[in-house]
Amino acid sequence: MRIRTVALAAAAVPFAVAAAAVVLEAGHWRLYAERHRIELKPQPRRSCPDCRGAGGWWVDGANPEMEACGCWSNRPELRIRLLPVPAWPDEPPF
Ligand SMILES: [Zn+2]
Repeated sequence: MRIRTVALAAAAVPFAVAAAAVVLEAGHWRLYAERHRIELKPQPRRSCPDCRGAGGWWVDGANPEMEACGCWSNRPELRIRLLPVPAWPDEPPF
């Protein structure tokens, strides 16, 4: 089931790259695509019993910090580099 979702996201990449940057959310994955890179990041599961889709929780203490939930932080992140990032911006300012 998860593999099919990834394949679906990968199929959308050629269309995504045509735009400046595209973010797609498919199932438990988030696809970010632009000319320079494609990233496929795991997302928290809404059915997760620990975080209920929030992706983590705050840990109390002297320095409160966000604890990442294992439902997404334990899954691999896919990053593909496309064009090299130029030393200066080559896009006209908006
Ligand atoms: Zn979770």
